Amino acid sequence: MIGAAGATGPGPDPGGDVDESNVAVEPSRFTPDLLAGRVALVTGGATGIGKEICRVLGAHGSAVVMASRKQEQLEAAVAELSAEGIDASFGVCDVRDAEAVRAVVDGVVAERGALDIVVNNAAGNFPAPMSAISPNGFKAVVDIDLLGTYNVTKASFEARMRERGGSIVNISAPFEQRGVVYQAHVAAAKSGVDSLTRTCAVEWGPYGIRVNAIAPGSMLGTEGLKRFAEAVPGGVPQKPSNPLGRHGHGSDIAYLALFLCSPMARFVSGQVIAVDGAGSVDMLRLGAGPI
Ligand code: NAP
Repeated sequence: MIGAAGATGPGPDPGGDVDESNVAVEPSRFTPDLLAGRVALVTGGATGIGKEICRVLGAHGSAVVMASRKQEQLEAAVAELSAEGIDASFGVCDVRDAEAVRAVVDGVVAERGALDIVVNNAAGNFPAPMSAISPNGFKAVVDIDLLGTYNVTKASFEARMRERGGSIVNISAPFEQRGVVYQAHVAAAKSGVDSLTRTCAVEWGPYGIRVNAIAPGSMLGTEGLKRFAEAVPGGVPQKPSNPLGRHGHGSDIAYLALFLCSPMARFVSGQVIAVDGAGSVDMLRLGAGPI
């Protein structure tokens, strides 16, 4: 049985009075060779949810290449995962820069001889009300989340996937049908990502490429939740308000990514799947309990 080694701690203080007792990592029951021989590129793979995705894909046989801007952070993550027996490496790029992205993607194909899995996880976030988001701030988030996803996806298609197929997983947010306080830029950008997910799935199905998205709810121990807790007066609530009454852990996202990238999901494409304890479908938010 494979565990998401090293992933059991609750991570940094999320900034509010949060109950961390319900986020132990569930050990994997997937076979350790599920992704044997595969090569995965994970943007933003050195931190948070992205690192958990690298850890879980790597623990199930895939080589993982992380891509983001800060080399020191990438080196530390590669060292951490390598110590767990994972075949990990990195490329440095800003996902907003199409040429730099193309160079990293080409490098992966040249050095690894393949590119089977792409996880578009890199994102920018600074929670703020619409009234306080500047044009530059709004553009930065849209450029990283949406244009960045386009850049990496397009480069991967051209460099390898058009010929050999593959699986793309976009990390979104469960915001598409809602108004989301402090997240005008992120919600707009992620709604675009959801749309791109569906269109790429439709256009590229004939190439053997599956494209899906995962929309995480609030994930304990992540930079995203920490920043949100700092920005919201009073922090995030002690008890999660979703019907399952628990926070998520990066491994909850990673296990779904693992399934989506595996042959077991060969007929799954064009879907945006929320991993949020049913929070995004709970219209009345009554917290009614076991009725
Ligand atoms: P995180 O730890 O802040 O990770 C973001 C990653 O993206 C970092 O590794 C960062 O590395 C990279 N990145 C940022 N800007 C980049 C750029 N311009 N080019 C390349 N890489 C860039 O975030 P997280 O909280 O784990 O979130 C991961 C994903 O889940 C995001 O897509 C986020 O929107 C989504 N999500 C998170 C939550 C949550 O509760 N945390 C909820 C819903 C959705 P560098 O700074 O080194 O570039």
